[in-house]
Amino acid sequence: MTEARTTNTEGKVNLLGLSRRKMEQFFVDLGEKKFRASQVMKWIHQQGVDDFSAMSNVSKTLRERLAEVAEIRGPEVLLDEYSRDGTRKWIMRMAEGNSIETVLIPDGDRATLCVSSQVGCSLDCTFCSTGKRGFNRNLSAAEIIGQVWAALRTFMPYDRTREKPITNVVLMGMGEPLLNFDNVVDAMDLMMDDWAYGISKRRVTLSTSGVIPALEKLGEVTDVSLAISLHAPNDELRDQLVPINRKYPIHRLLEATRGYLSGLPDRRRATIEYTMISGVNDQPEHARELAEILRDVPCKINLIPFNPFPESDFRRSSNNAIRRFQDILNQQGYVVTVRTTRGDDIDAACGQLVGQFEDRTRRSERYIPVHQHVS
Ligand code: SAH
Ligand code: SF4
Repeated sequence: MTEARTTNTEGKVNLLGLSRRKMEQFFVDLGEKKFRASQVMKWIHQQGVDDFSAMSNVSKTLRERLAEVAEIRGPEVLLDEYSRDGTRKWIMRMAEGNSIETVLIPDGDRATLCVSSQVGCSLDCTFCSTGKRGFNRNLSAAEIIGQVWAALRTFMPYDRTREKPITNVVLMGMGEPLLNFDNVVDAMDLMMDDWAYGISKRRVTLSTSGVIPALEKLGEVTDVSLAISLHAPNDELRDQLVPINRKYPIHRLLEATRGYLSGLPDRRRATIEYTMISGVNDQPEHARELAEILRDVPCKINLIPFNPFPESDFRRSSNNAIRRFQDILNQQGYVVTVRTTRGDDIDAACGQLVGQFEDRTRRSERYIPVHQHVS
């Protein structure tokens, strides 16, 4: 995390984005006991408090001190919209006036929050409207976890022992999470921390299009679940759909995926995401090729019907094509799910999230990592 984003213009530290380790260090630096971290984290993340004066188990002197040196600043919710199918979308304004989108998808006893990691995306995948709008900047850890915080606050007060308004988090909103490594890792730590949101590591999923050096490093710092945006069974086609493939081809991506999974303490499978685009990657030979290359990768496959957007000529695969594709993979022994399109009436479906921001890259730079924190 850069210092510039941790502190505001008055030099106050935004406590919202501090992981447990950083929060403890913050209190030690103040000359206070470490256990203050658990008290303050619970107020912020579990009670949704943004005002130190509400922290009744913290002494008045410390509360006043905190108000002088720190703040709890979440994103401003500009719009809170429901889809016909119960999907909910928030537009949240971040510092500098950019806005991003966060989506909550209820499904039976689950409710999955889809969180953004960047304002825009520099990777320019041809089928993704976020990518088509360009890239502005990385979100800070506070801005990433702030989406969970702000979404949960809209349910308050609720009985924590009975209700869980958010059960899963996926980093599948705007942006490539592995190009904002440190901030994403801090935010995911908070999602899983018992003093914050306490979501199990199996229910926090990072989705990546395959930034290999960062993926190789990920296992050293976290054990979240992994989704790989594959979308094509060979390099020739993937080079076209996911331009970063020209730098990090499929065999390296699958090797890094296996490496990550084998480092986990439990047996877990990656989710292979495959957007189904009519006539492009949805033919039976693609399914057979996919079955071949995934042979040694512990995985399940998630087929995502392409969601159209105005700047794209691609069309969604027909239901028949999707079923045929699924059948071939099933016959080869794979677990295959088809993602039902949710929230498309409010432009909240996969790849439709755009927010409001200015592109700050030149198009020629698009698929070169812009703010990579790893080498
Ligand atoms: N950058 C990361 C995470 C965000 S994209 C990644 O690419 O994995 C989240 C998922 O939505 C990815 O699998 C992406 O390929 C998919 N997606 C993007 N645009 C889409 C579209 N128009 N229709 C369907 N899925 C799309
Ligand atoms: Fe970026 Fe993911 Fe969209 Fe590709 S699919 S442009 S990596 S957000």
